[in-house]
Amino acid sequence: MSKVSIVRCPDYSDTKKAIAEALDLLGGLEDIINPGDCVLLKPNILAATAPEAAATTHPAVVAAMCEFVLEAGGKPIVGDGAGISHPGATAKALKASGIEEAARKAGAKVVNFETAGFTKVKVPDPLQFRELYLAKPVLEADVVISLPKLKTHELTYYTGAVKNFFGALPLNYRKKAHYLGKRELFGEAVADIYSVIRPRFAVMDGVMGMEGKGPSHGDPINSGLILASPDCVALDIVAAELIGFDPLKIPTTAGALKKGFGNHCPVVVGTPFKEARMKFKPSHGGISTAPPVLTRHLGKFFTIHPKINQRKCTRCGACYLNCSPHAVEQAEDGSFRINPEKCILCYCCRELCPNNAVEMKKSFLAKLLTSDF
Ligand code: SF4
Ligand code: SF4
Repeated sequence: MSKVSIVRCPDYSDTKKAIAEALDLLGGLEDIINPGDCVLLKPNILAATAPEAAATTHPAVVAAMCEFVLEAGGKPIVGDGAGISHPGATAKALKASGIEEAARKAGAKVVNFETAGFTKVKVPDPLQFRELYLAKPVLEADVVISLPKLKTHELTYYTGAVKNFFGALPLNYRKKAHYLGKRELFGEAVADIYSVIRPRFAVMDGVMGMEGKGPSHGDPINSGLILASPDCVALDIVAAELIGFDPLKIPTTAGALKKGFGNHCPVVVGTPFKEARMKFKPSHGGISTAPPVLTRHLGKFFTIHPKINQRKCTRCGACYLNCSPHAVEQAEDGSFRINPEKCILCYCCRELCPNNAVEMKKSFLAKLLTSDF
């Protein structure tokens, strides 16, 4: 039986005390973290917004968890990949969210999934993806802990501990998941990610949640809670029901349960469920009414591909050596080219190029739908 702890935390000045109580109610982190373990803490760093916007996990939650990992003998590493609308988005989000500074001050290493590289993995019992590319720091950690934000989501209604791992994907796999065209199928794709990462614990920032047009443009709401569980799916079931959603209709929860993760009937400890209950305004939209086949077809026309500007390129080879799927290829004349068929759109090459020679080439549809960068 999975336990989920709920603890009142009216504002962020009480964060560390509230998380300590939430962890104590579950027996602490000592059974999960062995001395010397590398512990990847995965907050939600969706966008370059200030903590007050409530789109990202609050830095106080991240800092407190770094301290608890250190106390348990682990080595905290904090990382995420932002909702990548353009190269460099994660670096900006790490700063604007206050997470980079808070994590460093608390003694953690900070990693940017956009530039840390991706590894190809096989998905066990796949529902949507037989293979995936996932951010290396998540795969290399001894222990992974989800630090989600309590928010509504236009596509999955609610976003929490399981959906949080979508940030470990490079852009073209994010696109593939979105272009599945149905909420249920998207939830199954997220469950595929979850089944590879297998997080060991979750602590949710529900102090200031987001209602309405989540996950990025909703309204902050003072929900005043910290939730924790060794079972991310159970935590999502409790949190979604807490804010007024049918938990089994959350596509990511349904997908994870379908793959055999989590528990339908978690036990709540700490603040009684009835006392913590509230109502979040839902987020509307998020899914095209077009048939999935059309969505997938249109998706092919939305591309933002990196291209090497041969006039600027000094052939240093940094992009070639660091491209995880080996999409940067060397021609006989020594020049480097990007093979769009192999490119997973992680933008590492652009980040790493010392000469700003990797430029972005947008399709007509992408030019129409995005602002310039
Ligand atoms: S070519 Fe660049 S964007 Fe494409 S996969 Fe390689 S490093 Fe990533
Ligand atoms: S990193 Fe930049 S300069 Fe170096 S080979 Fe790649 S494109 Fe050329």
